[in-house]
Amino acid sequence: MVRDFGTEEQKQEYIPAMLEGRMRCTFGLTEEHHGSDATWMDTRAVPEKRDGVDGWLINGNKMWTTGAHHHSHCMVFARHSGKDGDAKGIGCFLVPADTPGFEVGEYLWTFNMPTDHPKVALKNVWIPGHMVLGDLDYGLALAQHFVHENRIRQAASSLGAAQYCINEAVKYARERKPFGKPLAVNQAIQFPLVELHTEAAMLRQLIYATSAKMDTMPKPEVAKQLSDVISMCNYRANRLVCDAADRAMQVHGGIGYSRHKPFEHIYRHHRRYRITEGAEEIQMRKVAGHLFGFMSKG
Ligand SMILES: Cc1cc2nc3c(=O)[nH]c(=O)nc-3n(C[C@H](O)[C@H](O)[C@H](O)COP(=O)(O)OP(=O)(O)OC[C@H]3O[C@@H](n4cnc5c(N)ncnc54)[C@H](O)[C@@H]3O)c2cc1C
Repeated sequence: MVRDFGTEEQKQEYIPAMLEGRMRCTFGLTEEHHGSDATWMDTRAVPEKRDGVDGWLINGNKMWTTGAHHHSHCMVFARHSGKDGDAKGIGCFLVPADTPGFEVGEYLWTFNMPTDHPKVALKNVWIPGHMVLGDLDYGLALAQHFVHENRIRQAASSLGAAQYCINEAVKYARERKPFGKPLAVNQAIQFPLVELHTEAAMLRQLIYATSAKMDTMPKPEVAKQLSDVISMCNYRANRLVCDAADRAMQVHGGIGYSRHKPFEHIYRHHRRYRITEGAEEIQMRKVAGHLFGFMSKG
């Protein structure tokens, strides 16, 4: 985000700090009352000069701000102009975590404990004007950039984990012999794994093709050209891994449900991906937007 949207000064300062581990950023978009509808966010930024320095006063809240237990900064998205629902008028403000009024609160217990996902309150947080990242009016372009990269990474990760579950289930079905013959000879065992294996093979092609295009395109172009295909990869791969982990548990019987096998953990870990990087329905909405012409490329 800094490389593609930052000023020269920001790049000089932040990129080395990030690479050396001195700077770690969390991503503050979601709020208590607004997730999928981020453009309706409650957090507000208003211009305020302090000691002769132009800056921003931010008030509001964030939620699910992953990694706040060891961040140095939070990329806080806040509305400074426009009305609810407008993409324009939301900026990305880089807030140092030790700024007075920036308060990390309750960490939310989740399906996949331990958690690193807290609520954050912003009470009269002031930052200087040079801490705005990207176009003040179109901070959401940074959010799009962030989710595209995460969505394709998640898709690849989910696909790999899905294939692992399929392979382990096949191996076990050939070894385990209830009623004196390998489980693998039963079509009730074979066919669900065939379906999963086929889906994995098809997804692999789409993920490779999409990733290759992403790697050979300037990053801001990715948002214009590939947004819908990235969503296809993401939601289908995340669904696939949940189905494959569930099937692997079933094929393994009791031991598959136990923590002696990794399937329940794979399920818990990847289940969140169906919600967190823009929930499944929101990504399908994007694909539909392109398919039905409600959204155009670019
Ligand atoms: C473990 C975890 C980590 C996260 N980390 C971060 C983070 O670091 N930073 C951050 O900013 N956020 C983070 N999030 C928040 C995440 O991005 C949101 O949970 C997600 O965008 C969904 O928002 P919501 O939870 O408010 O659900 P809502 O927006 O309230 O939606 C609820 C459900 O309704 C569906 N829905 C909503 N609108 C429609 C529609 N028009 N049509 C059909 N279905 C619809 C959604 O898909 C969802 O399934 C994290 C969440 C989790 C669980």
